[in-house]
Amino acid sequence: MTNVTSREVRLASRPDGIPTEANFTLARTELPALRDQEVLVRNLFMSVDPYMRGRMNDRKSYVAPFELGKVIDGNAVGEVVESRAGEFKPGDAVTSFFGWREYFVASPADLYPVSRENQPLSVYLGALGMTGLTAWVGLNLAEVKAGDVVFVSGAAGAVGSVAGQLAKLRGCRVIGSAGSVEKVKFLREKCGFDLAFNYKGAPILEQLNRAAPDGIDVYFDNVGGEALEAALSAMRDHGRIVACGAISGYNDEKPQPGPSNFFNMIVRRLTMKGLIVRDWLDHRAAFAAEVGGYIRAGKLKNQETVVEGIEHAAGAFIGLFRGENLGKMVVKLT
Ligand code: NDP
Repeated sequence: MTNVTSREVRLASRPDGIPTEANFTLARTELPALRDQEVLVRNLFMSVDPYMRGRMNDRKSYVAPFELGKVIDGNAVGEVVESRAGEFKPGDAVTSFFGWREYFVASPADLYPVSRENQPLSVYLGALGMTGLTAWVGLNLAEVKAGDVVFVSGAAGAVGSVAGQLAKLRGCRVIGSAGSVEKVKFLREKCGFDLAFNYKGAPILEQLNRAAPDGIDVYFDNVGGEALEAALSAMRDHGRIVACGAISGYNDEKPQPGPSNFFNMIVRRLTMKGLIVRDWLDHRAAFAAEVGGYIRAGKLKNQETVVEGIEHAAGAFIGLFRGENLGKMVVKLT
């Protein structure tokens, strides 16, 4: 096979506050010919995710920062173009962590085979991918059960929309918050939430108290900040909080102060569990069996927002912080 040229997005500079296009560059690179035990993959869809914002800072968190001038890694789904490894053949669909690039060469251990029966393949970045797994793990950690009142913030996004739908399937009463009237309508009409509200319309606590006058049992936190503080006020005794994300603070120059009512953790005997999805990869098969079954049965919707072209990947990523996505934000590589 002739050498392949691939376009890729590199981190050009570290953002101050909300990232801009100037923080990224689109570059071309030529891939070497395959050696034994190597596979050439063409990415079909790549994921942009809020956590990547943290990796753009020069601070170690649970993963190392992205390096300046280097391609941005992250989840992607693609197909094998050429293989010199017995494990894969051309046409196989695979997920990987090779991120913001069109083609790459990898060893079989870095590829995870997925079935083409689930279409479009971008579902492996959303409801059947890391964000769906995050929702599923979070609800398991909170031990949700039928009858629980569950509040999900960031509810119309990738994790939130799956968390809310799964909680409904488990017999919970589900309330969601999101940042527009259109998103609220989507949660009510397409995801089956019992109630949803626009957190930009009025103080969150006021709207949450109206939606759940007797309080909430579980809070699935994607947002932090005001939403977390409101949830801490609305929790019933022995309530459970899933600390999944805190996007309201990801672009802050200085960390936000903690919730003023944190003492409710004690008074109400609350439990708060943090989660990092990559600790749960061993559970992928059980997750895929359950959530894949719901999707095939038409019981769970994989909503996505598709941006076309690697040249628009940076814009898609920035759009996450402006609420431009409904469901999972993915970039289709054409
Ligand atoms: P989303 O699909 O929810 O996209 C981000 C959404 O966040 C936007 O659409 C926007 O929706 C909302 N948002 C943006 N800025 C703010 C703000 N200042 N205040 C409140 N909401 C805001 O992303 P994901 O579903 O992929 O991720 C959701 C959360 O889960 C994130 O915090 C992410 O970091 C976290 N996460 C954690 C994982 C883990 O392992 N712990 C794994 C995956 C995700 P709106 O219009 O409603 O404002």
